[in-house]
Amino acid sequence: MTAITGVETVVVNASLRNWVFVKVTTDEPGLIGWGEATLEWKARAVVGAVADLAELVVGEDPERIEYLWQLMYRGQFFQGGAVTMSALSGIDQALWDIAGKKRGVPAWQLLGGRVRDTVTMYDHLGGGDSSIVYGAATQEGFAESAIHSIDEGFTALKILAVPMGAGLATGSQIRAASEVMGAVREAVGPDIQIMVDLHGRTTAAAALQYGRALAEYDPWFFEEPCQPGNPATMASIARALPFPVATGERLTEIQQFRDHLAVGACAVLQPDVCHVGGPTALKKIAAIAESWHVPLAPHNPLGPIATMVNQHMGFSTPNFLIQEVMRGDVPWRDEVVSGTLPIVRGKVTIPDKPGWGLDVDETAAARHPYEPEPVVEIGAEDGFLNDW
Ligand SMILES: [Mg+2]
Repeated sequence: MTAITGVETVVVNASLRNWVFVKVTTDEPGLIGWGEATLEWKARAVVGAVADLAELVVGEDPERIEYLWQLMYRGQFFQGGAVTMSALSGIDQALWDIAGKKRGVPAWQLLGGRVRDTVTMYDHLGGGDSSIVYGAATQEGFAESAIHSIDEGFTALKILAVPMGAGLATGSQIRAASEVMGAVREAVGPDIQIMVDLHGRTTAAAALQYGRALAEYDPWFFEEPCQPGNPATMASIARALPFPVATGERLTEIQQFRDHLAVGACAVLQPDVCHVGGPTALKKIAAIAESWHVPLAPHNPLGPIATMVNQHMGFSTPNFLIQEVMRGDVPWRDEVVSGTLPIVRGKVTIPDKPGWGLDVDETAAARHPYEPEPVVEIGAEDGFLNDW
């Protein structure tokens, strides 16, 4: 039997976020697995949670993936939560990497086999410029970024067009969002899918205000039109808007996805393979979504391991729609992680290397050690706070 000998973390500071890579070592020479457990603003907590979970799995057979998942979920009294589920996700991903490498097959082969030849990616433009987290992005910044993306061949992109605010949107806020969305639509033309991420900044009522204003620009979907975790509220928005609602990036457990789907809270589900418990859990969530005829657009603004894991899921999951990627965060991605798939005209083609097919250069990673993520200014005009 192969045995797990260690579970380590490698933290890489990549500008706005710290990538938390998880390395599982075994007693077979050269057989190691990599996963990603990135959880922004909680990197040190996740590192600690990985160490806690390692206590359970060191000495175990890395190929007992489902058993080890259950052990890590049930084996400590307090189950779930974003920190624990992200740590579990990173370890679970590393076990699938080991399973593929041991058999000499790509992970997608073990996750159901090839259901499609290419995976379509969409570009996350953030705010179009660095000021988005402050809610002050410009039309010009968005339009320029959008043109850059479609020139590269992307056919779908996402923007944060809606500013932070209080319970109801003001006229000037609605005009600002309309002008941004209108500028991007005018820049890209009618055939590009534009997703609008409301980031949970809005109440249900405010989301409908923005929905009425932006409908003429044909959003592909509204993402997180209210804070996560309230299926009934999300469903009320989904019923009222004339275009689809997407959500799920901040849900971490299978029951939460079931509860959203059961009330029709969304038309598109966005689980994050680094927060839900890795591929083992994502396959189950995808199956539940399939039972409601809901496709997946997995959340992924994270690092290169997360992106590759998501792509393998896309190649092997039937109800997959499109895959998010955030590029342009740091220019040295390929120095730290090699073997990633080139995005050509907005698509990637199926990989053939064993496991995830990635190599991590730990020396290069060490050049970018942990730094605290930037503090986001969420103060409201009246001295209180916004959701960001
Ligand atoms: Mg989002």
